[in-house]
Amino acid sequence: MTARVGIGYDSHRFAPGGPLILGGVRIPFDAHLHGHSDGDAIAHAVTDALLGAAAAGDIGEMFSDQDPANRGRDSMVMLRAAVARVRARGFAPQQVDVAVVSEQPRIASHRDAMRAAVAAAIGVAVDAVSIKGKTNEGMGWIGRGEGLACMAVATVTPLASPRTG
Ligand code: MG
Repeated sequence: MTARVGIGYDSHRFAPGGPLILGGVRIPFDAHLHGHSDGDAIAHAVTDALLGAAAAGDIGEMFSDQDPANRGRDSMVMLRAAVARVRARGFAPQQVDVAVVSEQPRIASHRDAMRAAVAAAIGVAVDAVSIKGKTNEGMGWIGRGEGLACMAVATVTPLASPRTG
């Protein structure tokens, strides 16, 4: 069974007023992630990683930011829709690993809740989801606290072929 890997990246700018939604978790914070949807950069990076592993398009093509229907959309619902597309292309998500680069908020105390939410959305065990927080050592736009970035890799394997005969 050959595993395939995909990569995803997303960034969002902070805007005044919380809560901040990340990894499907509402984090008490004085800013939120500005975006057409709810701005959940973990969900968006994981979505693109899974779609990439299946060579099944990308989040911008699935959920246009020009479409009013996507305004304020729950990104975990978008992630579930992407998983459905990946499965329709014949692949099952196996595992994801995420790096969050942010000066604030620190995510350590929310990590397990995020892992559980992402695992539920993509249909894997919690121990198949890794989420790690990093700062940017004060450098650049992340260091100045203008926003945060997420990187994700995901693996998928072919779905078992239906038995015939
Ligand atoms: Mg995004």
